[in-house]
Amino acid sequence: MIAIGVPAEGKDEPRVGITPETVKKLVKAGAKVTVRSGAGLRSHFSDQEYTDAGAAIAQSDADAVADADVVFTVRRPELSLAKAMKKGAALIGMLDPFSDAEGLDALAKTGVSLFAMELMPRITRAQSMDVLSSQSNLAGYKAVVDAAAAFERALPMMMTAAGTVPAARIFIMGVGVAGLQAIATARRLGAIVTATDVRPAVKEQVASLGAKFIAVEDEEFKQAETAGGYAKEMSEEYKKKQAALVADHVKNQDIVITTALIPGRPAPKLISKEMIESMRPGSIIVDLAAERGGNTELTKPGEIAQHKGVRIFGLLNLPGQVPVNASSLYARNLQAFIEPFIDKETKALAINWDDELAKGTGIARDGVIVNAMVAERLGGKGTGAAKADSKPARAARTPTKTGPAKQANGRKAPAKNGATPKEGKTT
Ligand code: NAD
Repeated sequence: MIAIGVPAEGKDEPRVGITPETVKKLVKAGAKVTVRSGAGLRSHFSDQEYTDAGAAIAQSDADAVADADVVFTVRRPELSLAKAMKKGAALIGMLDPFSDAEGLDALAKTGVSLFAMELMPRITRAQSMDVLSSQSNLAGYKAVVDAAAAFERALPMMMTAAGTVPAARIFIMGVGVAGLQAIATARRLGAIVTATDVRPAVKEQVASLGAKFIAVEDEEFKQAETAGGYAKEMSEEYKKKQAALVADHVKNQDIVITTALIPGRPAPKLISKEMIESMRPGSIIVDLAAERGGNTELTKPGEIAQHKGVRIFGLLNLPGQVPVNASSLYARNLQAFIEPFIDKETKALAINWDDELAKGTGIARDGVIVNAMVAERLGGKGTGAAKADSKPARAARTPTKTGPAKQANGRKAPAKNGATPKEGKTT
């Protein structure tokens, strides 16, 4: 019988990797689940609810994971947690695979298998396991709600006997999962919404949500989407044209939400200091790319920066600010990932390392780093660097000190998905 253990997260992480709902489903699938006392409290899941769902409660993290075949976390845990786990057990979470490679290597050396959910291939079969989507969606929503709360004016147009309150203008830059939800949320709140992206495919999606699409639509724009559905780094010439368009547009906006990311690269700088100075005092920018360096020149990750009356929110972990939903979706992502690896007859853990989902997310096995890009970042020094799989996993979403992602052979890694999805992308 598979044993699943869930520790409490660190003090900065309100989310949790399992919910009473997923405990129930996993127990039904044959698992024995142990949850650290209080692990769900910041997402408002009590020990009693976990117990009612069929979980055992442990009084320490070490006790929660000691007998587990699989441990679910939200963030990369401390080394001590991996040391408390059985050798060969699987640690599954958002392990931030492309930062602090040495830290990851130390985790690997404990002999636990590491799976980074951020590396889930974006193929149809894995949609229910896609943590980037489930969390970005909530981030897009929360960005608009935060901006609306901080904005000292109303968002919808109001026609009153005392006169008309104009609708606020909200501009969404980058229309991926977060951007689409930001548009939908801003529209529901009654704002006039415009949006931009470098991928032509989003034009229709923007229009279908009732927003206006603006972009430099030249020949390069028509080719800006990779086979995997992601953005390419644009040429200097395109960036200049885009900057002129954005400069002209941004000065009339009340709120700007930026979400633009390029796999394996730092976030593109889309809003300059001058553009911020052109905005009216009281305007707000929420930069969802803050964790990757930010889309504006003045973003300070983790802070609210102020410049000439304009506030720039560089807040981190927005999904963690809606932890009830974020935990619920994340826990379902984990449940969907592990269930196919529970043997139907014996109910034991049976990870098929040839499965493309295990291959895509697997970083370490038997003390060896098996992800080529992590190995590359270790510069051949790490436990398994020499033995690393030569096939790259998809490129990093987290900024790296070493610049663009490279394969072990020194060439630039293909965007996002090292293993080309067999089933093609979906949206
Ligand atoms: P992302 O987080 O990588 O980037 C956010 C957005 O920023 C993207 O739309 C990108 O085009 C845009 N961007 C990049 N550079 C820009 C620039 N210079 N100017 C303006 N915009 C810029 O994107 P995401 O949310 O991960 O989504 C990317 C794609 O993946 C979308 O097509 C999405 O529908 C698709 N997707 C597929 C699956 C699946 O198949 N399971 C799941 C989720 C998303």
